[in-house]
Amino acid sequence: MSISETIAAARKIVVKIGSATLSKPDGTINIAFMENFAAQCAAMNKAGKQLALVSSGAQVAGISTLHRWARKTDMNYRQALCAIGQVELMNEWSGAFRSCGLHIGQLLFTKEDFSDSRRALNMRNTLFTLADEGVIPVINENDSVACDEIRIGDNDNLSALTAVLWNADVLILFSDIDGVYTDNPKTNSEAKLIEMVDDIADLKKGITIGGANGFGTGGIATKIEAAEKARAYGIPMILANGGSPEALDALASGKLRGTLFLPPRQAE
Ligand code: GLU
Repeated sequence: MSISETIAAARKIVVKIGSATLSKPDGTINIAFMENFAAQCAAMNKAGKQLALVSSGAQVAGISTLHRWARKTDMNYRQALCAIGQVELMNEWSGAFRSCGLHIGQLLFTKEDFSDSRRALNMRNTLFTLADEGVIPVINENDSVACDEIRIGDNDNLSALTAVLWNADVLILFSDIDGVYTDNPKTNSEAKLIEMVDDIADLKKGITIGGANGFGTGGIATKIEAAEKARAYGIPMILANGGSPEALDALASGKLRGTLFLPPRQAE
């Protein structure tokens, strides 16, 4: 199955958008991107697909709203920034989707929520209800309550947990990288994009994750963890560059390349 075939076959799609994709080079939230992205989601929704969004960017939005605390590393300040930024972020998403005729619903999760069966069941029911009623769930970690012990810590893993919780058909991670490469493309012009992964253990043997050669730093490790989580439940994962023009449409029509992590049943 190719990336476009995987998306064509999917009814329930979880899309994760990273902070780098959501922000402009000056550190402010990229509203034009959000509007354009919401329009692509709305078109897919009209075509019968359900989408759930995992959106990072609370901290970035907090800093760009306050113009303060950018260098504060204390937990209380980071959590306060997320509390401020989450409101701004949702305000922008709400406006972007509303102009396409869609409503959004906010869900903020912590790691503990996923391991508590009662909470997880309620989260699952809310997700199903929102999506079934044509509302777009927009999910983030509940950063202002999650301390180190109960943090998922990154939205790659959060989006995989969400995809499993919702029984999604595919998970798409939009990042600022094109996919997984054989080597660091910034330093090795021979590095090739790996377009399909059917054995993650093999992939890990072949690449250095965050190692001395610099390849894989900037989050490949959490992306591979997310792929492993999704794969364990038979959910394929696509990693692609969210900054590409009309990234969602381009992936769906086969115009944008990325890395497709196949689930075991398709790989065999
Ligand atoms: N929850 C964090 C935020 O919204 C982002 C975590 C991540 O990007 O992985 O700022």
